[in-house]
Amino acid sequence: MPTFVRTDKCDGCQGRDKAACMYICPHDLMRLDRDGSETGHAMKAYNQEPEQCWECYACVKICPQQAVECRHYADVVPMGASVQPLRGADSIVWTIKFRNGIEKRFEFPTRTTPEGSADPYGGENEAVMSEGKDHDTLFTKRTHSCDMSQFVTG
Ligand code: SF4
Ligand code: SF4
Repeated sequence: MPTFVRTDKCDGCQGRDKAACMYICPHDLMRLDRDGSETGHAMKAYNQEPEQCWECYACVKICPQQAVECRHYADVVPMGASVQPLRGADSIVWTIKFRNGIEKRFEFPTRTTPEGSADPYGGENEAVMSEGKDHDTLFTKRTHSCDMSQFVTG
């Protein structure tokens, strides 16, 4: 189900050239109504074509004001409940509100390196494409043996 913007929370990304939700949407759906001529809400963002929304949650996660929410399918998130993320520099917190008022939070790490850095080879040798496309050069070889018993509980 598509996203919508809470006008009481959106601050228009403080008038920056491109609002965060506009920048991140892979389908170019989010717009900032600078003068209010399109929605009646000046300096508020909106989803200009909700039926085209992929529900990818990118705009929901990036909004610094938590102003973008998603309408969920009722069988997953019933009326009155909500699922809202809050991104940090190295983790994301999901707040789940149940329709009976119970609230739970789940925090997950999102990085293995400090923000702004990457370790693309993860300790492996750099891929040499000229050597061909065998498993070793493309990192698709199996490097760990997996003990499935570790996933079985009870
Ligand atoms: S990212 Fe959030 S605060 Fe910024 S314009 Fe979009 S909805 Fe508003
Ligand atoms: S959920 Fe994804 S596709 Fe939909 S408006 Fe947000 S960023 Fe765009």
